[in-house]
Amino acid sequence: MAYNCVVLVKQVPDTKRITVQAMNDDGTVNRGALPAIFNPEDLNALEMALQIKDEHGGKVTVVTMGLPAAAEVLREALYRGADEAILITDRRCAASDTLATSYILSCAVKKFDYDIVLCGRQAIDGDTAQVGPQLAEKLSLTQITYVEELVELNCDTIIARRNMGNGWQLVKANKPVLLTVVGEANDPRVAAAKKMMKFKNAQSPMETVEQVKADNPDASDDEVKELAEHKCKALEDKGLLIKQWDLDFLEADLTWCGRSGSPTKVHRIQSVVLAAKETKDVEPTEEGIANMIHELIEEKTID
Ligand code: FAD
Repeated sequence: MAYNCVVLVKQVPDTKRITVQAMNDDGTVNRGALPAIFNPEDLNALEMALQIKDEHGGKVTVVTMGLPAAAEVLREALYRGADEAILITDRRCAASDTLATSYILSCAVKKFDYDIVLCGRQAIDGDTAQVGPQLAEKLSLTQITYVEELVELNCDTIIARRNMGNGWQLVKANKPVLLTVVGEANDPRVAAAKKMMKFKNAQSPMETVEQVKADNPDASDDEVKELAEHKCKALEDKGLLIKQWDLDFLEADLTWCGRSGSPTKVHRIQSVVLAAKETKDVEPTEEGIANMIHELIEEKTID
């Protein structure tokens, strides 16, 4: 039996390269100063979907919500073997917290006939690991989080091994199902040279407009529109159009999107500077730990 997989992928700043220059004065990250990369665990989710396709057949669709530049991770997914790529981009998505993000992504996933939805466990920038579980909730799907191995895949059921940190757990669930995949799950395959040659020219409609403008600096708005439509049609015919969806296409309820759909409010951002200069050994006994907790409370480090 073939399985249709939808993989949610996010473009993130490479937080391993954070230096003082990449921080704003208010403690937020200056995203522009860091290279944008494929969220690492989303590569593991994509690899798991590609392995399902290799073994059983089916289709792998990748979806990202982000700025127009996020089309880059979609091209990367196509280089590795994804069949279809969808970019959700809309100014009204701005300021979405995880709740709004998962709502918007759920509207997109509902457009597909799918068996398995795969997410990375966590994004390295937002770092909440909330989007996968929230998405499962919104789609009323069974979720298996922290998946490191697919043990069995049958017509109706799936058995997955969860990485519990200090052990593992086998979970059996009915399909359709949502999985969040950990970095230990697999070694993501590299981009295939032939696919790179083919999909390096894949573009979203927004990128097409930008290219038409760059190639025809004197063209009027109407001319740009016409030329871009023409180019999109040609790309579509060659299977090179990255589909671009907005909130209208998704028929999303706007009160659940962007700022109005985001109950999270950031009141203050604080840079934590670890000032301790010395270490202290704690006896690994009940008494040693109780003493340490007592000390931390006395010093008001914890309450
Ligand atoms: P996690 O929950 O850690 O991600 C888990 C998995 O979910 C990922 O591995 C991936 O598979 C999937 N996933 C997560 N995000 C996406 C995505 N976008 N597309 C596809 N799959 C995805 N961010 C902005 O870019 N612009 C803003 O204006 C903005 N405003 C914010 C305002 C507030 C108040 C808050 C709290 C956050 C804001 N964010 C903004 C951050 C944004 O909410 C998060 O980037 C997003 O919700 C994902 O959360 P996360 O990074 O913790 O992902």
